[in-house]
Amino acid sequence: MAASSNHGQSTRCVHAGVVPDNTHQAIMTPIFQTSTYVQNYPGKPKTYDYARAGNPTRDALEESLAALEQAAHAITFSSGLAAIQAVTQLARPGDHVLVCDDVYGGTGRLFRQIYAHYNIEFEFVDLTVDADHLATYFRTNTRFVWLETPTNPLLRIIDIKAVTRAARQAGVLTVVDNTFASPIMQSPLSLGADIVMHSVTKYIGGHSDIIGGCLMLNDETLYGQLRFIQFACGAVNAPLDCFLLLRSIKTLAIRMAVHEQNALQFATALQAMPAFSEVIYPGLPEHPQYLLAKRQMQGFSGIVSARLNGPFETVARFMQRLKIFSLAESLGGVESLVNHPQTMTHASVPESQRKVLGISCDLMRFSVGIENAEDLITDVEQALSHY
Ligand SMILES: *Cc1c(COP(=O)(O)O)cnc(C)c1O
Repeated sequence: MAASSNHGQSTRCVHAGVVPDNTHQAIMTPIFQTSTYVQNYPGKPKTYDYARAGNPTRDALEESLAALEQAAHAITFSSGLAAIQAVTQLARPGDHVLVCDDVYGGTGRLFRQIYAHYNIEFEFVDLTVDADHLATYFRTNTRFVWLETPTNPLLRIIDIKAVTRAARQAGVLTVVDNTFASPIMQSPLSLGADIVMHSVTKYIGGHSDIIGGCLMLNDETLYGQLRFIQFACGAVNAPLDCFLLLRSIKTLAIRMAVHEQNALQFATALQAMPAFSEVIYPGLPEHPQYLLAKRQMQGFSGIVSARLNGPFETVARFMQRLKIFSLAESLGGVESLVNHPQTMTHASVPESQRKVLGISCDLMRFSVGIENAEDLITDVEQALSHY
């Protein structure tokens, strides 16, 4: 994907939500590091009254984030999971929630180990099935369907249009975790989704220095409900983090273009190395859902998964020997990371489920950064030379 052909996203990244401040015309939004605001008359605040309810730096960030998904509204949270929790709080005891089966480990943990205790039933299903099969999943008490595409860590593609069509027929909301694609590479609202969620900790923040989350949506009623949940439950993000995110967003489109270009080059190089039994990247024509990915995404993003031949010890040694790739959880930063899902990000997924999904000891997930692609490939070659 060329940064110049992304339908104005690069321009929105630089400008949306940011206007010169009205005291000194500062070009960047100031960090309003305050908890409260002085009122001249009881109960008649000038603009804001208390910072859990509102903060100008956060408002600017929300406006910028809404523009990225071309949504009417965005609501930011102190973490991606706080944003997921806010959506979950739309459900009531007795409700049923559909979840794609290889969902982010932390999302599954929140559903299985916290909200299941509140008599909400979470059913983990394969959402890559055909339309007829999809329709059978929905029940009268289904509150929402939660999906992530590309999935983590196996990078399967779920047809957002097909799921939202089936959900809408059943009167059910569709929520898409768009973290892996970023707003630059995929626009779920335009494909029929009701709510988009991001862990802004990843590509949107992009520099591995902030934890945050957000929701983007168009529906006014739903927006009012979620805004109330944010205010009532209190998981707001700090003004400094809002400022840093505004700064990060300015380069999001150009970062994503390089992540994608590097990921494709990296995945293609790994395919040619016999040490890897499988290389998974939606931008490879060999990916079983390449055509769907091409149709529903504006780009293939920067995550590559691969299986290395050999037992766990071999895989562990390989990851330790990488010099540019750091062995760490998380993804989406400018620096390249490698992760071992079975023992790290997906350790909380029940083992039986991991087996079904194929999250075994040979699987690694690479978050390809914006370094020189040749250097990244050479790093893999040198780590394999001890193989
Ligand atoms: C990281 C991540 C989350 C959780 O976000 P936090 O900011 O860590 O709370 C949710 N979904 C996906 C796909 C993620 O990668």
